[in-house]
Amino acid sequence: MRAPAIQVRGLKKSYAHKVVLDDVSFEVERGQIFALLGENGAGKTTTVRILSTLIQADRGTASIDGCDVTLESDRVRQIISLTGQYAAVDELLTGKENLHLMGGLLHLDRQTVRRRATELLTLFDLTDAAGKIVKTYSGGMRRKLDIAISLLGSPKVIFLDEPTTGLDPRSRASMWEMIRQLAREGVTIFLTTQYLEEADQLADKIAVLAEGRIVAEGTAEQLKAVIGEERLELHFHNSADGRRAATLLHLPMEGDGLQLSLPAGGTTDSLRSALNMLHEHDIVPATVNYRKPTLDDVFMALTGNTEKEVRHYA
Ligand code: ADP
Repeated sequence: MRAPAIQVRGLKKSYAHKVVLDDVSFEVERGQIFALLGENGAGKTTTVRILSTLIQADRGTASIDGCDVTLESDRVRQIISLTGQYAAVDELLTGKENLHLMGGLLHLDRQTVRRRATELLTLFDLTDAAGKIVKTYSGGMRRKLDIAISLLGSPKVIFLDEPTTGLDPRSRASMWEMIRQLAREGVTIFLTTQYLEEADQLADKIAVLAEGRIVAEGTAEQLKAVIGEERLELHFHNSADGRRAATLLHLPMEGDGLQLSLPAGGTTDSLRSALNMLHEHDIVPATVNYRKPTLDDVFMALTGNTEKEVRHYA
């Protein structure tokens, strides 16, 4: 059986007395888009730095395509790409010149560089901009060129650290499409992100990292299912109505006292009886919304937990 694209077992890393990673384990299959999701300071970059051989863990093991990141670091460096770290974009060169420069640094033969450069410029929709100096590029174009450069050596695994931070919605959508395209071509993608939507849109598998521990792992759907139920959200015109409704429905008041949220329970019966009850007491909600759980809910529920147990949903 072939090894998974990425395998991480019991990683621990501390700086001085601060534990940054505390027993982190996960696996990523080939061709999968994996998102490591966490707030600032959760330990995402530290994980990427260990996997990409830039720093060593204190304990535990990690391998890329079956190669140990510590014992076979040279081999690992040949099969991965790390955007924004290895690929330095020269602003005074054109996009194409940048690609050729990196091709030389990687000791690729000229014909291969020419072919890959053309392929990548097409994939990233940069063909028209290829002859222009990078200084004239937008933020999104630079980011794409940066990734294109890191892909020249045809890596098997690519690490994308917050790939769409700071991009406008249009560039973000085009970056997402490009990432999907890379995965379709069989590249394994390790994404770190603070954006739940990004993980939801892209990832085949998500691991939520909080304070150096994986607190949940699974597909977006599996994670949403943890928080479970769909809910009915009621907003009231005034807090007196809100309070009366809360008492009638045996629910805690939320926020400013104008909002209630009740589990939909998968059937319309409970919803109908709740609304009937309010109607009988002359309470008319200002708005009624039916809401499916989002990854936001999952994230808040998991990272807000003080009891951090690992939950596997995969
Ligand atoms: P993230 O990428 O999720 O924002 P990081 O992995 O960058 O998180 O950082 C996790 C924690 O480790 C932070 O509290 C950070 O201050 C600390 N840390 C990271 N690198 C170092 C370092 N070289 N020295 C000391 N502390 C560090």
